[in-house]
Amino acid sequence: MIYHTETEDETIELGEKLATELPPSAVVLLIGQLGAGKTTLAKGIVKGLGAAQPDDVSSPTFTLIHEYRALPHGRGSETPIQNRDREGGLVYHIDLYRLDTAAQVATLGLDEIFDRRAVVLIEWGERFPELMPENHIKIRFRATEDSREIEVEWNQPSPL
Ligand code: ADP
Ligand code: MG
Repeated sequence: MIYHTETEDETIELGEKLATELPPSAVVLLIGQLGAGKTTLAKGIVKGLGAAQPDDVSSPTFTLIHEYRALPHGRGSETPIQNRDREGGLVYHIDLYRLDTAAQVATLGLDEIFDRRAVVLIEWGERFPELMPENHIKIRFRATEDSREIEVEWNQPSPL
């Protein structure tokens, strides 16, 4: 599925929409050049999962991994019904940009994270394909000025 956005806010909204379609355990590879919108879409996904507001989601370029947890009852009746079994769910936001070798990536303990019931968002995840689980969702970004073409490839069967 290919989407187009013209502003940062539209990309955040798209992330919120995609969040409602993600299974409770999912690995999402965000693929695109610097400034393509990977972190922006991640903000929307984290928001859509009820785990944090976009302003509180920052790029894990230096910290490598950020963890967010949705509040168990935080959103009450605002929580879309399809998200309710995910309340209290975990979201990991990871950036592999600064890592050069598989040995460096190994120090992150990704396998343990992949085993958790969590949505795992990985910027530059295409750089270490051998370390990614077979089942993953790829989101590719193509940027021209403010336009973004955002292609979602569901490797796992889409729930919709
Ligand atoms: P990445 O994580 O891929 O390096 P970011 O999401 O951090 O990229 O940054 C995207 C940049 O592009 C931001 O400065 C944002 O304001 C700008 N931008 C302009 N148009 C868009 C759009 N349609 N979607 C997302 N970001 C956009
Ligand atoms: Mg980024």
